[in-house]
Order: sequence, then C-alpha cells, then structure tokens
Amino acid sequence: MAKLNALAKAGVVNAEGFYTVGGRTAIDFANSSRRFGKDGEGLEKLEELLSFLKSMGHLHEEEASSYHMYLFQNPERCAKTMELLRSVRARFLAVLGQAASGWPVDPTFVAELNEHLEGFKTHLCIEAADDGLELNTRLSDQGPEQLLYPIFKDIAEFMVSDQLGKIRQCASETCDLYFINQSRNGRRRWCSMSTCGNRAKVNAYLKRQEA
Ligand SMILES: [Zn+2]
Repeated sequence: MAKLNALAKAGVVNAEGFYTVGGRTAIDFANSSRRFGKDGEGLEKLEELLSFLKSMGHLHEEEASSYHMYLFQNPERCAKTMELLRSVRARFLAVLGQAASGWPVDPTFVAELNEHLEGFKTHLCIEAADDGLELNTRLSDQGPEQLLYPIFKDIAEFMVSDQLGKIRQCASETCDLYFINQSRNGRRRWCSMSTCGNRAKVNAYLKRQEA
C-alpha cells in the first residue's frame, strides 16, 4: 500500500493501481494489461473495467453501480464485452509499436475501429454543472458494450492527433509501457523518471563504479 501511494504520488499509477504514464485514456488503456498490485491481466472482469473508467474520470459512482446489474443479469455478455475490449487493445498495441518505429498506421485497424464506433448511438444533452450548465454527449443505448465508448473514442481522437507520431515505448528491458513523448528536446526515454529512469541511472552509476 505504501508503494502504491508513492507511485501514485509520482504519477506512475492512480489510486486503483492503473498505470497513468500514458497521459491520456487511450494510452493508459494500452498499458492496462498490467495493474500495480495485481497478478495477471489488469482488465479481466467487467468490475475492473468499471474501476478503470471510474479512476480515469469517465464514470460516476452511481453509473458504475447501475452497470453492476449486468454482471448478475448477463455475465456472458459482460465476458464477451471484455474479450472484445482486450482484442482491440492487442490490435491497438501493435499499431502503437508500428507508430513508435515510424511505420504508418495499419488501415485495417482504422476500419475495425470505425466499425466499433458505428455501433454507438449518442445524443447531446444540456446538464447542470458546478457553475451553471454544460453540454455533454450521452449514450442513447444501455448495456455493458456502452462502457467501451470513452476508450474507443479516445483511441480515435489519439489516432488523428499529432500525438500518434510522438508515441514511444519505455526504454527499459523489463518495462513495456507506452507514453507520449512531449519533452521539449524529444529525448524522453522512460515511462517515468521515478521508476525506470531512476533504475537506469542507478545501474549506469554502478557500472561506472565497477569499471
Ligand atoms: Zn518503464
């Protein structure tokens, strides 16, 4: 727990243990196969997706509890939704790997993502906010599949942004996290200075001592 707090303070993970070095939902999602403090798949069950979305600010507590109902009503449908989500993540990771090596985007992934996006029906809605009114996009349908909307939407927005050309994978051999290289000199190599970057510095120091 102390380590989770330290990592959360350093901006490496959030309070739920999901990695936040990606800097936006799409990339944090790409990094979600690992979750700090948990062995195995980070997004195994629908509950974990609810935690992920809540911790990323895409889902309110009340909304999340209404989605819990589907787990009892239709666990198969929930499992299928999670399978779809993980298969899109695997495809997206391949696209990120290609982009990090300077390759163009695989058009079949774009077509696949467009097909998923076509399945969402949304409408605009004026709602009360802290300081007056705000215009929000709401989903017209209900069901566990709707939970994928904020993730797929952010992947689409990322794909058309200049951040796609700035995607990098951590230079550590033991770390596979992706991040967006926004450093001014473009030389950032580590997912985080407080973890992998620091480890690399210490290793380089020890090597110098040995020599
Ligand atoms: Zn790293």
